Amino acid sequence: MRHLFLNGPVQNGPFTFTTRPGKAVGIRLAAALNAILGLPPAPHLWNTVTLAGDLRHREADGPKSPRQRFEADLIADKYPPGQSPAGGIMTDADAEVAGLALEMIENNLRAGTLTISRETVPTCRACGHMTGTGGHPCNACGSTDTQERTGLHLVAELAKNRPVLDRSDIHASHRQQPKHLQHTAGNVAQRLILSRTRDHGIDLSPLGLNDLVLDPRAGIHATVLAAARKQQADLAVMTITENAANHIVAHGQHFREHDGTRLQYALHGHLPYDHMASLGSLHEAYRATQAITDGFEQWFLPLFSLKAKTATRPDQLPGLFKHYMRAHLAQPAEANEAALKAVQYSASVGDTDWITSKQTLANVLAARGIVSVSAVEI
Ligand SMILES: [Zn+2]
Repeated sequence: MRHLFLNGPVQNGPFTFTTRPGKAVGIRLAAALNAILGLPPAPHLWNTVTLAGDLRHREADGPKSPRQRFEADLIADKYPPGQSPAGGIMTDADAEVAGLALEMIENNLRAGTLTISRETVPTCRACGHMTGTGGHPCNACGSTDTQERTGLHLVAELAKNRPVLDRSDIHASHRQQPKHLQHTAGNVAQRLILSRTRDHGIDLSPLGLNDLVLDPRAGIHATVLAAARKQQADLAVMTITENAANHIVAHGQHFREHDGTRLQYALHGHLPYDHMASLGSLHEAYRATQAITDGFEQWFLPLFSLKAKTATRPDQLPGLFKHYMRAHLAQPAEANEAALKAVQYSASVGDTDWITSKQTLANVLAARGIVSVSAVEI
């Protein structure tokens, strides 16, 4: 089975990787795992189908650039000047993603797991935005004047014969199955409307749903599968936090398999990047070079977040840095091939125990090319 690890698409919000390195954990983790398996660099995936993005584009000053260009420019600004990812960039509104999503929707319509039906939904009378239930002001224009409007929508029927999320959807060893997530993910309505009012996204008008796009929570899955298909992978593993997964898994239920390529989630935790300065004295004590501290922050910690799953606490950082330094100092002159093969196997099945073994980590560090603090340091 050919894997490809891909980041859960990052929302194209107002930040840069320098100011918010925590936004890069999924990207760094995917890069680390692909390098361990000897796979080519994956594209960085971005979520641009957002209401916030619509509003930002509508309100932008000066001559308006087309939305795709507008988003691409904002994404480029996230990276250090003059640098862009070796594996490229893909967004959830790219033409190849839309093409794949429409194929998946058509297959699902034939299978009856998706339907197109008349639905009555609360809609803003002023701007036409679907406001959702709850009687709050329109998120797009602020108007409180809503009406029930009936029209055609794309609707997902959740499978009755299987849970929203089961073991086969998670890339992890049996011990690390996220029982809480499996439970909360199942607490959703039996029918989900997958068509949305957005200025930008995967246009559903080819299906007769004019002025509607695919819900980005489904579109994110199509993005990951499109990136995997491009590299002929048959297992696309999406790195994602448990919170983010909880938000998208139900909408993605019918978008996790296409044409022989499957999607699984690899859950990771948050990292306390705001507290790196607390390691200053340890850096000095170990005379750690910039390359070593980069390796710790951009390669080791993301891998550790795959083991930690929830949040890594700031007070764990000194212990983790010492572990990394001890492994660094214990590197053999030549990496042991059999031990590397074992680590590759672990990475391919979602086993994370090797990360906290000094000897195993030392051996991985000794293998050239595996520790790729990627060409783009983010
Ligand atoms: Zn409105």
